[in-house]
Amino acid sequence: MASLRSRIALALIRKKLPEIVAGDPVAELGDGLHIAVVGSGSPLPDEKRGNPCVAVIANGKVYVVDAGEGASETINRMGIDAGRIELLLLTHFHSDHIGGLGSVNLQRWVAEGTDTPMRVLGPPGVERVVKGYNDAYRLDRSYRTAHHGEEFVDPAIGAMVPEEFPVPDEGEANVVLEDDGLVVTAFEVDHSPVTPVVGFRFDYKGRSAVISADTVYSGNLVKASRNTDLLLHDALSQELLLMVAKAQTDAGNPARGKILADVTDYHATAPQAADAARQAGARALALTHVVPPLPLKGLEEVYLADAPKRFDGPLWIAADGDLYSLPPEGGLKRSNLIKRR
Ligand SMILES: [Zn+2]
Ligand SMILES: [Zn+2]
Repeated sequence: MASLRSRIALALIRKKLPEIVAGDPVAELGDGLHIAVVGSGSPLPDEKRGNPCVAVIANGKVYVVDAGEGASETINRMGIDAGRIELLLLTHFHSDHIGGLGSVNLQRWVAEGTDTPMRVLGPPGVERVVKGYNDAYRLDRSYRTAHHGEEFVDPAIGAMVPEEFPVPDEGEANVVLEDDGLVVTAFEVDHSPVTPVVGFRFDYKGRSAVISADTVYSGNLVKASRNTDLLLHDALSQELLLMVAKAQTDAGNPARGKILADVTDYHATAPQAADAARQAGARALALTHVVPPLPLKGLEEVYLADAPKRFDGPLWIAADGDLYSLPPEGGLKRSNLIKRR
């Protein structure tokens, strides 16, 4: 005889399950451009923040920008149906931005209604990365098809299709995608010695958002972000990260200390991101790729430093699940797709 506790748990889950399975928050979003932060962290283990990934939603279609480890799990926790993923865009090929590619593709492949392979757009290097994932998942694909049948798990659409675009020249932004009124432009940013790295601007029905990718302060980004409604910018705290680096070195881990200290030279700080937002005339700024983890609420002020003085629009530290909605008629609505469920 099952315990009372387990019978109650079973009854609750039986009641809730149909609602969870049928839930489709993307269908409920009104018209407009919607920016959903899937992972707001970095490769540093962080119990609150996943590896970088953003889902941009327009016309009911989802355009995923980068897919760090855990991306598909968080996309699922946000209630976003993987079958709605139209394509994936990559900013660069650091492991924290590509580690979840295989899983995002798998979830999309087996989702209801997908009948095309997933396109993966990126700068030079994208073909190599996508080919590697396709090879690594080749056996898995064959098992899935053998088990469930070609009708349900079509082998013709299981592998991703890479599409390379050239890196725009200094100061330029090139259109890399036009789809149902959505225009995506790419511009080069500065994450040296890592190259190429591009940021993306999304324009739809008079609203826009920019995703910085990993970068220090970038004049190219300021130019490409002119009057944008939302700038989602990479930011770390040098003060906090150097403190962690020193603690590692002092604890007898000099290699770990050096690697952490090196990280400070190829990401912007929150004040630098605020400068970029102010100079671009951005209407709102959200900081992401949060480094190091901020386990205590009070550390958020340290992370921001004097950023709020440098940018007088709305300024947030992004969290996993955050949704920024930009309807055609104007305004910005902020909510969280994980907390909403
Ligand atoms: Zn990077
Ligand atoms: Zn990164």
